Amino acid sequence: ATPTSIIIGTGRAAELGVLFRQGEALQSLKEVGVVALDKTGTLTQGRPELTDFVAASGFSEAETLRLVAAVETRSEHPIAQAIAAAAERRGLDLPSTDSFEAVPGFGVSAMVEGRKVDVGADRFMTKLGLTVSTFADSAARLGAEGKSPLYAAIDGKLAAIVAVADPIKPSTPEAVAALHALGLKVALITGDNRKTAEAIAKRIGIDEVAAEVLPDGKVAVVKRLRQSHGKIAFVGDGINDAPALAEADIGIAIGTGTDIAIESADVVLMSGDVRGVVNAIALSKATIRNIQ
Ligand code: ADP
Ligand code: MG
Repeated sequence: ATPTSIIIGTGRAAELGVLFRQGEALQSLKEVGVVALDKTGTLTQGRPELTDFVAASGFSEAETLRLVAAVETRSEHPIAQAIAAAAERRGLDLPSTDSFEAVPGFGVSAMVEGRKVDVGADRFMTKLGLTVSTFADSAARLGAEGKSPLYAAIDGKLAAIVAVADPIKPSTPEAVAALHALGLKVALITGDNRKTAEAIAKRIGIDEVAAEVLPDGKVAVVKRLRQSHGKIAFVGDGINDAPALAEADIGIAIGTGTDIAIESADVVLMSGDVRGVVNAIALSKATIRNIQ
């Protein structure tokens, strides 16, 4: 490609809200075979809401929510904000916490009023030596509805199943269809529950799902997808997306995402939605055609 055509191409991209931090990305985008998308904040709005809260027998719903929300006020995870907001709406007075600990990809723990409170994914409960099988039916139903099931334990006993749902951005299904029309595979990479991720993928028409991926596991998934589908573009917004953005042949950050994601990316989508990826790839193809 000539320098002039790249300048023209990147200029046109900027008009479409696609920022090329790397001029080479404009050329290599047309060779991409698979686009992998982060879920929370990329495909979805990244603002989950609490949808379900069911206490185990022997536990009161309001009291359990009060303890769980107290712990979650200490976490910055979007899930935590959903739970804290729900408790606030119910007018619950939240006690202070001690010994707060976040285990990335698993959940959070703290002491509240002398009681040990743990909140997180099923694998977090397993790690604590608890079984979540009493809630198996609820979890399957919630997952099938595209909601993310979580669990709470109090003093080492399973106390509740909680669900949050994060609305899909209205632009996402259209963007996935357009990527398919360009002949690309589309994959989803998430730390979320498998059933939930598969339900969401099905709704949007995504081809491949890597779920329950630990924060440092996204890079390995990017490498695996490259082996099966060739050049890979990864789209993400979070702190834990930065290594995968750097590993991908083209890293694409959502402009509304974290600074570290943007700094690790080759391309930034100012519009904040995945349709920008389609524009970027279409432009790459058009630019290269003009040059030849
Ligand atoms: P994602 O960004 O896809 O949600 P994370 O690695 O941040 O992935 O989290 C993976 C899973 O760990 C979450 O889906 C949730 O089940 C659990 N988790 C993480 N942080 C919290 C938290 N503060 N409260 C409850 N669960 C949490
Ligand atoms: Mg995200």
